[in-house]
Amino acid sequence: MNKKVRFFHSIHFKIALVFALLLLITFQIVGAIFVRQLKNDNLKSFKQRVELSTYVENSLIVALSRTDTEGANTKIKNILDDINNANIQEVQVIDAKGTIRGGDSDVNSRSLIGQKTTNSAVKGVLYTGRTYTETTYNRNDNKRYYISITPLLNVSSNNNAVVGAIYTRADMASVYDSVNNVVVIFASASLIAIVIGMVLAIIVSSSITKPIEEMKRQTARIARGDYSGHVHQYGNDELGQLAQAVNNLSIRVEETQELSESERRRLDSVLSHMSDGVIATDRRGGITIVNDMAMNYLDISEGEVLGKSILDILDIRNQYTLRDLLEKQDEVVLDISGEKDLILNAYFSVIQRESGFISGIVCVLHDVTEQQKIDRERKQFVSNVSHELRTPLTSMRSYIEALNDGAWRDEKVAPEFLKVTQDETDRMIRMINDLLSLSRMDSGTVKLDLELVNINGLVNYILDRFDMMLKKDKIDTRDIKTKNYTIKRNFTKRDLWVELDTDKFIQVVDNIMNNAIKYSPDGGVITCRLLETHNNVILSISDQGLGIPKKDLGHVFDRFFRVDKARSRAQGGTGLGLAISKEVIELHHGRIWVDSVEGKGSTFYISLPYEEYSEEDLWDEN
Ligand code: ADP
Repeated sequence: MNKKVRFFHSIHFKIALVFALLLLITFQIVGAIFVRQLKNDNLKSFKQRVELSTYVENSLIVALSRTDTEGANTKIKNILDDINNANIQEVQVIDAKGTIRGGDSDVNSRSLIGQKTTNSAVKGVLYTGRTYTETTYNRNDNKRYYISITPLLNVSSNNNAVVGAIYTRADMASVYDSVNNVVVIFASASLIAIVIGMVLAIIVSSSITKPIEEMKRQTARIARGDYSGHVHQYGNDELGQLAQAVNNLSIRVEETQELSESERRRLDSVLSHMSDGVIATDRRGGITIVNDMAMNYLDISEGEVLGKSILDILDIRNQYTLRDLLEKQDEVVLDISGEKDLILNAYFSVIQRESGFISGIVCVLHDVTEQQKIDRERKQFVSNVSHELRTPLTSMRSYIEALNDGAWRDEKVAPEFLKVTQDETDRMIRMINDLLSLSRMDSGTVKLDLELVNINGLVNYILDRFDMMLKKDKIDTRDIKTKNYTIKRNFTKRDLWVELDTDKFIQVVDNIMNNAIKYSPDGGVITCRLLETHNNVILSISDQGLGIPKKDLGHVFDRFFRVDKARSRAQGGTGLGLAISKEVIELHHGRIWVDSVEGKGSTFYISLPYEEYSEEDLWDEN
């Protein structure tokens, strides 16, 4: 991301180059105009310098007008000798006929006197009467020459007749030398200026690029998520303001980032603490978010579901398409009966932007297993109650019908029939009383009348009652149904004081003892043990009776459950005794459970929370 800028691409180089080019062009233009102007001026003054004066010209005209050639030539020579012009290299005087009449001190020119000129330009001037000038370059001596051919006009004659011409050749070295000097000065000055300019440009550009470089680094840091840096503000110019803006931006981005981070954390914690499962998907149904509860329900891990289709993960591809979920958003019931035996309701809703664009689906999984179980149990209960009441009622009805049909007259049968109806009525009343106390406990209105009781004494008291019943029954030999049994007590020596509701506790122990007698053969031994563990008192009652089949062990505390319905009913059982016992013990924060071997006997255990009290504590309380 943080690429190094190559030097030729850098602002440094560009600014320096622009500076240098600007200076170069400026110097070029200024130099060109200046040199040209200088050259023209020099040339002009040079021309003036090499021009022969009017006096010389007039003298030459006069000399050429003489008829004696010899005298004229001498005169011309004298005139030419008088010309003292250092710039003029060569002078020739040519008469109207094209004969060279005079030359300067040049030997070569002098030998030419009297000869016809071969110079076509001279001939032209003689012919046209117009001045001719020319700049030539001589390769032999590497010099520029200015050649001027001026016609000599006899002004006194009527038609301005051409009487001859003067040919002058002047060395232009003086003109070009000074121009060349100026060019050299100019070139070196511009070179120095360009170097200084480039140095300045680099200084200026570094003052621009340094803050830019800093801002570049800071923005790169922001992009990486590091907001700690701060760009130094060098001034209040545009760059300073930009630096300020970058600093503000970094603060704003950090604030926004923190806000969205805390928002995300909040959402995360909401999602992970929700008791419902949540799955969110993208537009195509690919899972993007899944919370702990959903993973728990579906027995999946985050890694294996992210990106997969929600239809596959919920295993509903055969029943629904993604479009169905988007359009209907109905409640879908998933029965995940596997190891977990879960029933989930899945509610779908669409995540939609304001523009109407659908960006995904959210699925909320709600565990309704318990609800459904309660529903099932309630229905089961109602059907059980109706069934339990119908059976005694139907049998009573048949006995009453029989009595009604005349059996009441039969002295032997009638009392027996009436006894059965009375027994059934009693059983129904017992059952309804049991149901009422269960319903009271369910609604939570039952209050325990707690007192600190010596449980050894209490259990002894209950068992004594059963022993008494046995003795009484033995005396009253008419009751043939009475069973024989022996009660063995195996108690800890220590006195255990427990807080409990005496009446309700007696009811529980009575029920277990009655069952032990009911479901035992005649002459069985019932063993009661009382012991303490670290913080529990455990009472166990074992019999040598029928025992309970293993599969039913978990159900004996359920309402209306009986291993053998007919037998229990025949014994006057309601199937609610153990259910009530369980509720009572749980109200005491205790536990009740059973161990049994079918055919050998059962042991019922009651465990109650126990706190050791010293004798002193007890006395203090009293
Ligand atoms: P019931 O009024 O039928 O005795 P309970 O709730 O007291 O109702 O007992 C439920 C069922 O548990 C009984 O019907 C019986 O099948 C079984 N059960 C209870 N105690 C014993 C026991 N000591 N030996 C064998 N089965 C027992």
